[in-house]
Amino acid sequence: MKFMGDYHMHTAYSDGRGTVEEMAAAARRRHLSAIGVAEHGPRSIGTGVKNEKSYLEIKAKLQALQPSFPDIHLLAGAEANVINPGGMLDITRDTIKRLDYLLVGLHPFVLPQGWKGWGWMLKNQAGKIFPSLDHRVRNANTKALKEAIYSYDVWAVSHPGLGMPIEIAELAKACQAKDTAWEINAGHCFPSCREVLEAARYGVEFVVNSDAHFPETVGDLSYGSWVLEKAGVPAERVRNAKMRAFKE
Ligand SMILES: [Zn+2]
Ligand SMILES: [Zn+2]
Repeated sequence: MKFMGDYHMHTAYSDGRGTVEEMAAAARRRHLSAIGVAEHGPRSIGTGVKNEKSYLEIKAKLQALQPSFPDIHLLAGAEANVINPGGMLDITRDTIKRLDYLLVGLHPFVLPQGWKGWGWMLKNQAGKIFPSLDHRVRNANTKALKEAIYSYDVWAVSHPGLGMPIEIAELAKACQAKDTAWEINAGHCFPSCREVLEAARYGVEFVVNSDAHFPETVGDLSYGSWVLEKAGVPAERVRNAKMRAFKE
């Protein structure tokens, strides 16, 4: 399977190392026809954008660069954090509206919102020590993601289950219902073939992203083609497989 775009990468605005221009130049070397910069939300501890203005600055930079990259669609996105069990994100709806697309993910090192948010995050930490809590932790994480999917227009869930466990079947049903893609994160070689097979059973669409933090790994999507082919997922079910256009 070949891919036309890569919609998840980080620059020096969050915890990546390259500039927006270096990422675009790397995409050109990889012959991609679309890229999206999707920085960590501001409540990621030590790895997020300074504040929401960064997203608009990145968007302005991408727009200014666009004429120099006529063959590559340069998109401004975000990788927002869910910060409480009610599915609240750490980026305002006003900023989200101005972006081209939205990724939403769970990350363990995030400043949660409210006492329910703290309780949820602490439960995740406790779950790492006490395996008996696994079911409850999965349940809470899945519910939080579902709430976000149902209250925002989420284009894809980034690396579902990485670092914070989820119930695949339940999340996949919500993704399918809300037309939210399930990310194959090639940078983390995640999820496994077994997990891809399980999500695919519920009719989700996939998107393969690099999660590049350096220009060198932009468009490095080979894990995605390997795992999707192994799981027997056809290109029609993969948003950025070649032959399919970007769907907002
Ligand atoms: Zn992430
Ligand atoms: Zn990321």
